[in-house]
Amino acid sequence: MYYPHDFHRVKGELYCERVPVARIAEAVGTPVYIYSYKTLVDHFRKLQRAFRVMHPLICFSVKANGNLAILRLLVREGAGLDIVSGGELYKALLAGCSPSKVVFASVGKGAGEIREALRARIFCFNVESETELEAIDRIARAMRTVARVALRLNPDVEARTHHYIRTGVAESKFGIDQRAARLILQRHEAFPGVRMAGIHIHVGSQITEARPFVEGIRRAAAVIEDGRRAGAPLEWLNLGGGLGIIYKDERPQTPRQFAAAVLPTLCRLQVRLILEPGRFIVGNAGILVTEVLYLKRARGRRFAVVDAGMNDLIRPALYGAYHEVIPTGSAQGASNGQLRYDVVGPICESADVLARRRRLGRIRPGQFLAVLGAGAYGSTMASNYNGRLRPAEVLVRGTRWALIRRRETRRDLIRHDVIPHSLLK
Ligand SMILES: *Cc1c(COP(=O)(O)O)cnc(C)c1O
Repeated sequence: MYYPHDFHRVKGELYCERVPVARIAEAVGTPVYIYSYKTLVDHFRKLQRAFRVMHPLICFSVKANGNLAILRLLVREGAGLDIVSGGELYKALLAGCSPSKVVFASVGKGAGEIREALRARIFCFNVESETELEAIDRIARAMRTVARVALRLNPDVEARTHHYIRTGVAESKFGIDQRAARLILQRHEAFPGVRMAGIHIHVGSQITEARPFVEGIRRAAAVIEDGRRAGAPLEWLNLGGGLGIIYKDERPQTPRQFAAAVLPTLCRLQVRLILEPGRFIVGNAGILVTEVLYLKRARGRRFAVVDAGMNDLIRPALYGAYHEVIPTGSAQGASNGQLRYDVVGPICESADVLARRRRLGRIRPGQFLAVLGAGAYGSTMASNYNGRLRPAEVLVRGTRWALIRRRETRRDLIRHDVIPHSLLK
């Protein structure tokens, strides 16, 4: 199997690197996210190696996983960070990322966020509309500085992926259409507060083939050549993120195949390259471990009720996403091993189903299940819905492990609530 990770069985027991997953679950309780240091670093290096000839700036997408320890680890490997808010800028700087490696995308950057990012001297703004460009220009001039920007092109390419994570189609809210981008570049001198440093495209997420990227680059290339003729510098091409991983039976391109498909065009264009991978780096570097609370039957369906719900991992409920679910202990030798269960959480919503009709082997209350491929868009999307505490997070490196996020406390649930006694008298 091409896409390796460091969760594997030793004599039937599931390990993360060299630590039994169940041992961590017993020590810190469930639900708990567990990440492999080695998997994170391996994925980052693989991408780096595949694009070595271009010395790309690889900006890890903070929204995929914003844990400070994970950000710090990747920054130490040489990663920059791709942020989508002032909050993520705050975390990026705390994680020790050089501002010169921070790129800022978002369709709705506020004036305060733009000011803050300019003050921090981030590398580049990915600009999503002409009005945003005007705002950045105005704010930068007022601050007597020049903002480096990349116009986010809506490449208008169809990528076969989930409806909610398709971002590169013409009718999506993201980016600037090609005609408008060309017009802006022709008038680039009208924006003295910005430097048109590049073009940004982000075709979508969980894309398993090179074709949409190649098509996107082709369109970006036309805009770059056009813009350069008009005198815009356009030294950078930001290819965005979106590299797909294996959740079930996908056959995603390897970083090497991806690089082989896009490098020729990139070299011809003579651009510096930025990549913004999120899922590819962290997706299968993390699992969510949960305890089976009860087994129940209804109308011939069997349910395993577990202590993790859609508030901990919303992807199945939000996207209909598939995650493999496996017991952390030996799965063999059971009389009821062939039965299929719906793995459901405790949340009062019918959508709170982590997995449907799965064979879980011998299963009983008190045992742990691991939800695989939960490293990306798992903990960052967790919430307190139903008065639940967001889970603990653990990082494993070799035979050692450490808590990288404490489980929330009851106190966290009410921390920001205010009872206005003047109104309730
Ligand atoms: C979400 C996002 C990414 C990361 O996407 P992945 O599919 O996790 O690689 C990169 N760039 C932008 C602009 C994004 O919005």
